[in-house]
Formats: sequence, structure tokens, C-alpha cells
Amino acid sequence: MKHFTIEELTRSTTATQFGIDNTPPIEAVGNLWELIETVLDPAREQFGKPIYVNSGYRCAELNRKVGGAANSYHLQGRAADLDTRSGENRRLFGILKSLPHTELIWEQGGKWIHVAL
Ligand SMILES: [Zn+2]
Repeated sequence: MKHFTIEELTRSTTATQFGIDNTPPIEAVGNLWELIETVLDPAREQFGKPIYVNSGYRCAELNRKVGGAANSYHLQGRAADLDTRSGENRRLFGILKSLPHTELIWEQGGKWIHVAL
């Protein structure tokens, strides 16, 4: 892992706000690690600037709280919601297209990008 950390993909202001323990189980940590190695770090390398994670792993309680789909890949630590915060989500989306993924979604008119492995 070069650019992203497990912590970055686990922390959640909603979880903190509602006192939800969003600590991932070991399987989810493995999935997060793979997501970083296979998708996020390579995307960051190609993008050349910071990429921000709005949401990564979500425990069931947190997922319900944020209105995530019941079978969301976030529950397994296989998904991340990304934002460039620099108006370059379209360019990031193009980069992600060329990297391994099982889901790649342009969310709410490109406010963020959901990618899952
Ligand atoms: Zn998502």
C-alpha cells in the first residue's frame, strides 16, 4: 500500500456521530487491502493527485444508517466511493474503467464514483 490506508477506508463521520463500531472483520480487511493494491493505488498513480474516499468498508449498522443497498459490496470491504474534489471525476472515471472492477458507477451525476472489486 502506497497511497491509501485501511484506516482511510474504514473511518466514517456517520459511525462516529452515532457511536457505531465500524471495525472491519479480518475478511473485510483482506478485501480492502486487495482493493487498494489492485484498484486504488494504481488509479492514484495514474491520476497523479490525491483521491478522496467518502466511504469504504461499512458494517451492517452503518450501511443501514447511510441507506446503502442491503447487498452492497461496501459490507465486504470490496467497494469505495471516490471524489477528486478538483472537478476531475470524469478523468478519474476513465482511469478506473481501465483497471479491474466488478462495479463502476457514476453516482448522482458524478458527485462521486463507486468502484467495487
Ligand atoms: Zn458506493
